[in-house]
Amino acid sequence: MTHSLVTGGAGFIGSHLVDALVARGDRVSVLDNLSSGSLDFLAGVRSSIEFHELDLLDEDFDAHLADVDIIWHLSANPEVRTGIDAPEVMFRQNVDATRCVLGAMARCGVRDLVFTSTSTVYGEASVVPTPEEYEPLAPISAYGQSKLEAEQLIERFCEEENGRAISFRFANCVGPRSNHGVTFDFFHKLRADSGALEILGDGKQFKSYFHVADCIAGMLAVAPAETCPGGGFAALNVGSLNGIDVVTVADAICEALGLPDVQYHFTGGVDGGRGWEGDVKRMLLAVERLREFGWRPQFGSRAAIVDTARWLDENY
Ligand code: NAD
Repeated sequence: MTHSLVTGGAGFIGSHLVDALVARGDRVSVLDNLSSGSLDFLAGVRSSIEFHELDLLDEDFDAHLADVDIIWHLSANPEVRTGIDAPEVMFRQNVDATRCVLGAMARCGVRDLVFTSTSTVYGEASVVPTPEEYEPLAPISAYGQSKLEAEQLIERFCEEENGRAISFRFANCVGPRSNHGVTFDFFHKLRADSGALEILGDGKQFKSYFHVADCIAGMLAVAPAETCPGGGFAALNVGSLNGIDVVTVADAICEALGLPDVQYHFTGGVDGGRGWEGDVKRMLLAVERLREFGWRPQFGSRAAIVDTARWLDENY
């Protein structure tokens, strides 16, 4: 039986991954400090997993790696906007915590790692849809920079420790249990005022949104031992096949909530209509490489947003 250890397993994506790993028959351990995750997300599998509430930055967790075959390292601060006010927090939670995980892997002899990276490592790519081999990797946010630095640490780990790692570079993931991002923000703004919606930027930011079910299917479609059998690092994009602009996101949410007459107010944003400093204006990922492993996304961007809005409506 494969023993999977998931960091950040009580979070939005992590809890869906834990559900899927339990369903496929893995033994599953979860490490999470519950800073943004919730035990409620794990309610359905709580009796089947080993859960340890701890902060990767503060505690020695080597003991939890005994007999572990693979680490799924999802813990992070995923909120791009945190990096504007507190870049040091972003680097601690995304880079230093990754260093702690890799150190523990080296000491405990765990070779296989799956990491969750982001489209923002590409920065403002001149090629869209952007393929994994795109260069230069030039993030424009502290979040993107922190994930790129974490990827570089992982590559070095693979070279020095004969490790095998996949870094999944995600577009914007949405779906049940969404706890941050534009859909979550718009939903809560509309709950507070169902007649008006403030939209950051000019509303023309064009991005790919993909459903967490497609995210998990992608993560399980391929294993580090397959992509880099002799050791090494591989990056794989995961996203939907299309992108939509922020006004379309707002329209989809209003439609899902049955709100036909919402007035949109645009902040105008910064630097040519970005929602915030470091907001990439156009993002769509090339996903052909993952499709070679038999994965196909089931949701387009708009359908993924609608499903998320309906779940939020039923659960908040
Ligand atoms: P999330 O905030 O729901 O999950 C992160 C989890 O990590 C939480 O449960 C949190 O409590 C835990 N955590 C944070 N710091 C920790 C620490 N120091 N020690 C222990 N636990 C800690 O976020 P998510 O959206 O599920 O994101 C999961 C991963 O996917 C992250 O690495 C994120 O950067 C990446 N990602 C997400 C998206 C997206 O659209 N949601 C896009 C690109 C990449």
